[in-house]
Amino acid sequence: MNKLFGQALPVLNDIEAHGFEAYFVGGCVRDYFLKREINDIDIAVSATPEEIKKIFNKTIDIGIEHGTVMVLHEKGQFEVTTFRTESTYSDSRRPDEVTFVRSLEEDLKRRDFTMNAMALSSSYQLTDLFGGRIDLSNREIRTVGIPDERFNEDALRMLRAVRFVSQLDFSIEHHTFEAIKKNAHTLTKVAQERITAEFEKLLAGPAMQKALQYAVTADILSYIPDLITKNIVMLLKELKWQSLQPEERLALIICIGEYQDIFVLLKKWRMSNKVIQKQKLLADLLQLRKNRMFNRVDLYHYGIEAVKSAERITAVWNREYFNSEHLDNLYQSMVIKTRSDLAFRGSHLIKWTGKGGGPWVKECTEIIEQLILSGQLQNNMSDIKKWVETTWLQR
Ligand code: ATP
Ligand code: MG
Repeated sequence: MNKLFGQALPVLNDIEAHGFEAYFVGGCVRDYFLKREINDIDIAVSATPEEIKKIFNKTIDIGIEHGTVMVLHEKGQFEVTTFRTESTYSDSRRPDEVTFVRSLEEDLKRRDFTMNAMALSSSYQLTDLFGGRIDLSNREIRTVGIPDERFNEDALRMLRAVRFVSQLDFSIEHHTFEAIKKNAHTLTKVAQERITAEFEKLLAGPAMQKALQYAVTADILSYIPDLITKNIVMLLKELKWQSLQPEERLALIICIGEYQDIFVLLKKWRMSNKVIQKQKLLADLLQLRKNRMFNRVDLYHYGIEAVKSAERITAVWNREYFNSEHLDNLYQSMVIKTRSDLAFRGSHLIKWTGKGGGPWVKECTEIIEQLILSGQLQNNMSDIKKWVETTWLQR
């Protein structure tokens, strides 16, 4: 038995002992049959959240209006969700109403794709009402029910289909894809946060190119904010981007797109400030690397990870082989790796010079850093003090 399933089994057993039904559902069942690593376990139950809270001592309400409570069990934390249907999506965005139901079948029916609509019981009995196993073995993504209707209910599912292509290297079943082509324009109605969450998963998948090709063919890219265009997809096809991390792939895309204002671009995508800062840094480093090789001062200021990322992206762009040896050796040879390694502080400079604080402290510190990194000055208090007294003050 899968380790995570094993850990969650006592939770299913407890729920069943109280007279309710409980199943593993969704992505974990799909990934179990695909022999992929299971990230998180979703449990669907016939009990209401209130009933679940009576069974377990420790629970957290994480989405009680959607029927989800987190059960804190000695073996781990598990999301437990009441069987539900999602009635009418009048705006293709979110269900207007969530209705709790007592039947597993109703719950599976509302799920997006056949591969995501299977349930596994505590005794490993599979409920597969829509041919999910067959579609898994054919590596096909197919909606549960009539594709046109399902995409009309929730347009995000079209982008989900494409991101599953990227993650699983599957194909999209013919009728499902025809409906995506027909309904792609309704993606404009979907909340950006939901689009971004799927897009980030798309960026991380091994079959990203195939997924983007589907997105181009269905014209999906015209209905989500600027970032990736048909031309960028064509260019990516020529490049060996597979070794890049998701954030490096994003930086490559931004670089190919020659976007000027990364802040505005990524704010439209509701990306976090942390992501935006990282992308700005990578864009700056890529620009710098166009003109010259990285040196010790770059490694010191930007850190080895960011510099290596930029080098990796540059190698992909230049169609070259990436070898980290040069940067690793350079980094190893640095006597100071970060500012905290310096043998002095700004307060020392003020004391030695007898001058008040000001911008000069930063300027002086940066010169000393460069001298130390280039081997022209030793990183010890007395040598630095001597340099400040003789060279800096005598400028
Ligand atoms: P991953 O491993 O990437 O998380 P997942 O299949 O678990 O994949 P989630 O977004 O976590 O994907 O959703 C969990 C399950 O909820 C899905 O497997 C699917 O059954 C159902 N689901 C999620 N989003 C939708 C949606 N927009 N419409 C219908 N069903 C959905
Ligand atoms: Mg999931």
